[in-house]
Amino acid sequence: MHPVRVQAQAVRVVSSTWARDSHDLFDFEATDLHRKTFTALKPAVCVRTGTDVQMLSDALAAPRVNNMCDPLLRLAQKDGSFWVDRAPPQGSSKKLWLVVRDMPNGAHHLQQGDVIKLGRFKFRVRQLEGTGEMQPELRLDDSGAVCRVNLDGEKELANTLCRICLLEGPSEGDPLIAPCLCKGSIEYVHLGCLRHWIRGRLNLSDSSGGSYFFRPLPCELCKAAYPTYVQNEADPLQPMPLVEVPWTRPPFIVLENMVRDSQQHACRGLHVISLAEKVLKLGRGHESDVRIADVSISRCHAMIRFHQGHFQLEDNNSKFGTLVAMKKPRLLEPGQGVSIQMGRTVLSLSAQTDLEAADAPAPLRHGTSSGAADERQLRLALLNRGSGGARPDGWGTEYPGDAAQLPREADE
Ligand SMILES: [Zn+2]
Ligand SMILES: [Zn+2]
Repeated sequence: MHPVRVQAQAVRVVSSTWARDSHDLFDFEATDLHRKTFTALKPAVCVRTGTDVQMLSDALAAPRVNNMCDPLLRLAQKDGSFWVDRAPPQGSSKKLWLVVRDMPNGAHHLQQGDVIKLGRFKFRVRQLEGTGEMQPELRLDDSGAVCRVNLDGEKELANTLCRICLLEGPSEGDPLIAPCLCKGSIEYVHLGCLRHWIRGRLNLSDSSGGSYFFRPLPCELCKAAYPTYVQNEADPLQPMPLVEVPWTRPPFIVLENMVRDSQQHACRGLHVISLAEKVLKLGRGHESDVRIADVSISRCHAMIRFHQGHFQLEDNNSKFGTLVAMKKPRLLEPGQGVSIQMGRTVLSLSAQTDLEAADAPAPLRHGTSSGAADERQLRLALLNRGSGGARPDGWGTEYPGDAAQLPREADE
């Protein structure tokens, strides 16, 4: 597209800060945001004190950052281009979250390993399968243990009792296994008996396409998590899931609930959802495929659809936004603005190749706005305005979401 990369002269930064400081949230429907516009000509660090955002030149930043203000992000310069990175010190500065609604076409192409955030809830994208015969990997970070069936031991176990059915010894195709830390007379259980018990605990009803919520169950006596897979020595390459899960129709996605200790009402586990017949809806409403009963979640908050070979995450004008964690420093391409959230501040950045345009005042800055759609339009307008507005070369058209698509339906 660009045979020669155009050198960026400056970066236009529009900061919007929510007056309230609540769970690192930013209210995309708020109309009383603290807004500031900057033009950075050289590397800088963006910091926040209270609701006031400032750009400090790189050299000055370090000593001041430690004391009174929160470092937000660092603007670096390399080979004539500007890059966005976490603020120093990287270990303790805030995570950078890309704002999905401000992305081109309002959508993010998901990749395995992405961490997404809705309100104050996070999910990790564990698996994306577009086609083929692959089935979900039911592994969580600290589980995924395999229980081995020792076939040689079958004779030794002939007089051993199953702790559920109290019958002796393994039977054909139904070995006795030791799935947890229990010892003594309750060490062994028939695979079939344990599966029957688990089936009763996990409500894996047959839904369209084979979607379900998988959670690791602990033993009720010793509290150790049951293994995810059982491996028969006769067939070592084919461990079978302990839990009998339905076959999931591709394309499907596996999302892991990233539950903090403080979210005891939420359940750790994996959402396995087939997109074969429908669009995945995440939200607080009953019609959601991934339902999150929390005040920071809108009724229909976000959607994931399989479109032209990609899993596409879209925000549905949610109050507290849909975000994707920024994994590495990001190049600011001229003409492609990006919005990044750090706690209660959203920074919209765009590289400028024309200093005159960058210095021009933003005409919409003092405009009155009456709703979330206007706020978004304002952010995008400020982003695009600096890169020339009505320039004939078509800059700013990277955002087709401007006036034509707005306003969309607001939630509730
Ligand atoms: Zn049994
Ligand atoms: Zn146990």
